[in-house]
Amino acid sequence: MTWEILAEKGLKATPQRIIIYDALMNEHSHPTTETVYERIKVIHPTISLATVYKTLETLVEYQLADKVSTVEGTYRYDGKTEDHHHIIIEETNEIIDFDDQQIKDLLKAHLAQKNIENLKITNISIQIRGRKIDDSKTITINKF
Ligand SMILES: [Zn+2]
Repeated sequence: MTWEILAEKGLKATPQRIIIYDALMNEHSHPTTETVYERIKVIHPTISLATVYKTLETLVEYQLADKVSTVEGTYRYDGKTEDHHHIIIEETNEIIDFDDQQIKDLLKAHLAQKNIENLKITNISIQIRGRKIDDSKTITINKF
C-alpha cells in the first residue's frame, strides 16, 4: 500500500501525496512535473501544478523518487530509485532505463583501484546520450 511506503520513509501519507506517488509509479517515461499534473488532473481536477511540483520534490527528498537531468538542463522524475542507467535520445528527450550490472561492477572495481580519498560512493549512474539511427524504429536493448 502506498501509505505504508510513505510512512516507512517518515512521510505523512496525505491523499495528495498518495495520488502523486501512484501517478509517478505508473508512468515509466520519466515524466516532467507537467506530465504528472496532466495525468492527475483528469481524475483530481482540484490538485494544482504547484502541489504536484512540491510533492514530487518532497518524494525526491525522502528518496521515494529520483531526478534525471535532461539535455536541455531541466529535470524529469523517476519512480525507480534503485541504481540504474539511462539512455537519452537527444532529439526527442526520450529517457529509457538501462540496467547493466556488468557496467556497475566494472566501474566499482575501477574506482576502487583509484583510491579516491574521503569519498564513499553512494550511487553510480551513467547517461548514455544518442540519436536514433532509424527514426521509424524504437530503441531496443538486446539483453544477453
Ligand atoms: Zn530511470
